[in-house]
Amino acid sequence: MAWDFSTEADFEEQLDWMRSFVREEIFPLETLDLDHETFLAAARPLQEQVKERGLWAAHLPPELGGGGFGQVRLGLMHEILGQSPYAPFVFGNNAPDSGNAELLAIGIDESGREEQRARWLEPLLAGELHSAFSMTEPGAGADPTMIRTRAVRQGGEWVINGHKWFTTNGSVADFLIVMAVTNPDVHPYEGTSMIIVPAGTPGVNVVRDIPTMERPEPHFGEYGGHAEIVYHEVRVPYENLVGKEGTGFRLAQQRLGPGRIHHCMRWLGQSRRAFDMMCERAVSRYAHGSYLADKQTVQNWVADSLAEMTAARLMTLHAAWKMDREGAPAARTEIAMIKFWGARVLYNVIDRAIQVHGSLGFSADLPLERMYRAARAARLYDGPDEVHRVTVARQVLKGYLPVEVPTEHVPTRRADAERRFAHLLEASS
Ligand SMILES: Cc1cc2nc3c(=O)[nH]c(=O)nc-3n(C[C@H](O)[C@H](O)[C@H](O)COP(=O)(O)OP(=O)(O)OC[C@H]3O[C@@H](n4cnc5c(N)ncnc54)[C@H](O)[C@@H]3O)c2cc1C
Repeated sequence: MAWDFSTEADFEEQLDWMRSFVREEIFPLETLDLDHETFLAAARPLQEQVKERGLWAAHLPPELGGGGFGQVRLGLMHEILGQSPYAPFVFGNNAPDSGNAELLAIGIDESGREEQRARWLEPLLAGELHSAFSMTEPGAGADPTMIRTRAVRQGGEWVINGHKWFTTNGSVADFLIVMAVTNPDVHPYEGTSMIIVPAGTPGVNVVRDIPTMERPEPHFGEYGGHAEIVYHEVRVPYENLVGKEGTGFRLAQQRLGPGRIHHCMRWLGQSRRAFDMMCERAVSRYAHGSYLADKQTVQNWVADSLAEMTAARLMTLHAAWKMDREGAPAARTEIAMIKFWGARVLYNVIDRAIQVHGSLGFSADLPLERMYRAARAARLYDGPDEVHRVTVARQVLKGYLPVEVPTEHVPTRRADAERRFAHLLEASS
């Protein structure tokens, strides 16, 4: 009987190190308005320390230069890193590069195109290149079977035409992984492929970084931007195909499963940070004759937040455990469930923390307003809440059959029980 919530002592020691490293070395960087180059200069020595501790790119198997931690350990680790938007970068597992590295690794295994390893995968893992994942289009998001971007094979090349948006890091990436229809005569599940497009290839027109709730002011060419890109007669070698032709959807699922749960793990850390701020404020602020901590509404927020966060944590770690034991496809329902639940918990806890802080919470003097804007996006990217609910409900409902009379119908059950226990009823009457 194994049903264990404990962490091995040596890994707990690593987690302790990460806790103080993130708080002491990475949190201070958040307060400086660094451009990407200056941030890189600050991050490089920290990345060396992470490598020395054997914690670099922990999401990848050892043969790819990662720690091969498995999802449960990764979950405990991401919970710490997720507290700061900068920490995943320092630990070599920031989105979208981490997911794209996994995607390339799976693709190389399937296609045998080893040249992609040295050209794209290894520099990506080393943090020397940045990548972007270009799937969503203005007309195709939650339902990617509506993708219109076309890649046509002409001799030894792909010719790509299409319009994408919300390609995170698309304006600063060294290469883009583009999802395109390569065979329009079959279902998109069989006719869509992923192709590596180096940035700067003629015809790649990065129109803009879209101003968003995260970043409303006009900006361009900065890390973390979400690019709108028009691909016009873009020509790349046939060998830039990721995996095999027609496997784009399958690869996307393989990439998005782990990618989604890594987001959920990071959200645990973000929620905890907001929760700590809420509790600190509750015991510090005095109004209307008592501390906020003594007001029942605030107590409800503290209790509800802790209960929701604990549920999110257990659901996340359970999904991770199932992935480790049975693989990502077997944990599809669990991953979908935590994706919408975790995003909602994150959003709720940050919202309550802002409320407890009053106008200070709304101000940029605290990180809550930034966290709140990022949390809103969490309910959309990698599939909106509603789509994950559909996935969960469909999987669950497969286990039920229609009936004429409800299984729990008391008169029917009573009649059955009266027949079964007739001898007892007769004896007692
Ligand atoms: C911050 C951020 C970063 C992103 N980064 C990337 C990236 O790097 N690469 C990339 O390719 N894309 C990226 N995206 C795009 C993201 O994946 C899409 O926004 C998402 O898939 C939803 O697509 P959509 O925005 O077109 O929404 P739509 O498809 O227009 O859906 C709108 C709404 O319709 C509802 N809906 C849709 N389907 C259903 C359904 N079956 N049942 C019930 N309701 C439904 C939902 O409420 C949904 O929010 C990013 C988005 C954000 C916000």
